[in-house]
Amino acid sequence: MSTPDHKIDDNCIFCQIAANKAPAAKVHEDQHCIAFMDLYPLGLGHVLVIPKTHAVKLEELDHITQSHLFKVANAVIDAQRKCGLGCQGTHLLVNDGKAAHQTVPHAHVHLIPRQKGDILKSTFRLVLHITGMFGLPANRKKLEAQASQINQHLNLEPTQNI
Ligand code: AMP
Ligand code: ZN
Repeated sequence: MSTPDHKIDDNCIFCQIAANKAPAAKVHEDQHCIAFMDLYPLGLGHVLVIPKTHAVKLEELDHITQSHLFKVANAVIDAQRKCGLGCQGTHLLVNDGKAAHQTVPHAHVHLIPRQKGDILKSTFRLVLHITGMFGLPANRKKLEAQASQINQHLNLEPTQNI
């Protein structure tokens, strides 16, 4: 597959991450997308999967990129469950547009690990998130360690790892 031309918005934090101009604890990267640790996690091991090209909503992406994003998301969910961080279930979440409380206007899929009994903690963080108040950022070294743990359990077929 040829290397696509990516649209970049210089004011977009996720475009900056995609261009390696802003830091992120990366779980996976290929020519179409990146998966990295959410800086204000709603659960232990919370990952975001984003297209490298700038698009606000999923509908703006071409079909190859859209479906690739979800293939990678699927593989990351599998790795989150196997990697020893205690993930027992997953919230797969897309806030697609302002009305859906999208705060970063670059399309992304949230993969939020859940554990039995974490409802109070996770609901509190979710309410903060919806109001746009994320709280304190997570420790970047810890996020790097989690990213590497998840990456080691990532099983993407060569055709998916494009
Ligand atoms: P949403 O409300 O769906 O737009 O979610 C945006 C997500 O991006 C939130 O979960 C934030 O915690 C996360 N986020 C914002 N800035 C960064 C960053 N620099 N690195 C990693 N995650 C981020
Ligand atoms: Zn962007």
